Amino acid sequence: MLSIKPVSSLEDSSRIVEELIGVGALLSAAMLLGGLTGFWGLAFLMAFGIYLARNLFYFLHFLNLVRSRALEPSKAPFGVWGDIYEAYFEKVFQDKRRIKRLRSETDQVYDAMNLLPDAHISLNEKFQIEWVNHSAENMLGLRRNDAGHKITNLLRQNEMVQYLERQDFGHAIEFYLSAESTRRLSAKIVPYFDKHYLLIIRDITDAHNLAQVRRDFVANASHELRTPLTVLNGYLELMLDSADSLPVIWANPLTQMHQQSLRMQNIINDLLTLSNIEAEDVELEADYVPVHSMLQKLEAEAQQLSGGKHQFHFNLESKEGLLGKTEALRSVFTNLVSNAIRYTPDGGEIWVRWYQTPQSMVFEVKDTGIGIAREHIPRLTERFYRVDTARSRSSGGTGLGLAIVKHIIERHHAKLAVYSRLQVGSTFRVEFPISLKHSEPDV
Ligand code: ADP
Repeated sequence: MLSIKPVSSLEDSSRIVEELIGVGALLSAAMLLGGLTGFWGLAFLMAFGIYLARNLFYFLHFLNLVRSRALEPSKAPFGVWGDIYEAYFEKVFQDKRRIKRLRSETDQVYDAMNLLPDAHISLNEKFQIEWVNHSAENMLGLRRNDAGHKITNLLRQNEMVQYLERQDFGHAIEFYLSAESTRRLSAKIVPYFDKHYLLIIRDITDAHNLAQVRRDFVANASHELRTPLTVLNGYLELMLDSADSLPVIWANPLTQMHQQSLRMQNIINDLLTLSNIEAEDVELEADYVPVHSMLQKLEAEAQQLSGGKHQFHFNLESKEGLLGKTEALRSVFTNLVSNAIRYTPDGGEIWVRWYQTPQSMVFEVKDTGIGIAREHIPRLTERFYRVDTARSRSSGGTGLGLAIVKHIIERHHAKLAVYSRLQVGSTFRVEFPISLKHSEPDV
């Protein structure tokens, strides 16, 4: 194999000496020939021709080598051409070594991707498959030679089609593998490089089934408790109505029993609302929701709930509505406004805004209420989480309002932001993606 010299050998003077010796030898031969024959001009012309022919030969030979990217020459020529050859071979050799190393690193990445339990599919900017790992083959029935096909030709679920159309990849989607399948999958797209996407699909059947068992239990238990509670509540109301005919000692216990049974009823209603939201598929059943007129009605309800104890500023700057679930969204707006009323002392102010930004439709409630300490904010949307349990109960809270809000806005791919300062007030902002903006349809 050719021993490789560093590229800098081009400047090596030994090659120039070699070249000069060659030229010198050629000139000596020409002089000898000229002396012997007397044709000096012809002799020098021949020497010049030989020199030119040699250079032309190596020039064409080198061009050929460059085109074929040959690595091992039989022999590097002497003179300056030898330097050029060696410099070139050094470069090609380095390139080949780098390509080999890169190939082995890429193979390692592919091997690792194939060992991952989740399906990984690389897509180009047109969402056409570039490659799939083993889990994608086993889980989804995709094959390596599906490369070039659009992913939605092979995964035709509505949820997947809409996910790619919307191009809002900040969240994952869930879907069934097929109409007959019980396998529940979760999919998330991660953009990488320039306009490339990695589609990661995970089998979440077990977790989904477990969550379903829990949801069913809560829904069934709440349902079962509702009827006996209604009966108890009815009798308590009857007894309260005829409290005059009962011993005085019963008046207070009866009032408290009635209050607590109403509270239980509210909790059960909220638990049922939560289970219903979890069971609903907003994407498949979205309606036009007239937010502007809904909030106008909410203003009147808020005034009533406050009993004139607060000052309201409803700034409904946008006339636009949303695509979503009407009752669910009404519940979001009502919950946030009623919280502002319940947690703002008498005389406080409450601002409600509905407006548009380039990226979102925003609903915002700001109050001058008691505020929330920073450490509580991340936990507010947990079920039954209350900052001050006694205050929440006495104001008729169930501890489920913000959990309901969170679920509904997640279903609408919206974001909830909470800003608050103790004794100054709180702001709850819901940002709906602009893709959900919808004008009132013509009738
Ligand atoms: P609750 O029925 O107890 O109000 P939520 O889930 O609606 O339950 O709210 C959770 C907790 O968040 C409340 O108990 C309260 O401590 C706090 N909170 C919610 N909204 C506000 C607000 N506007 N100002 C201050 N605290 C609030």
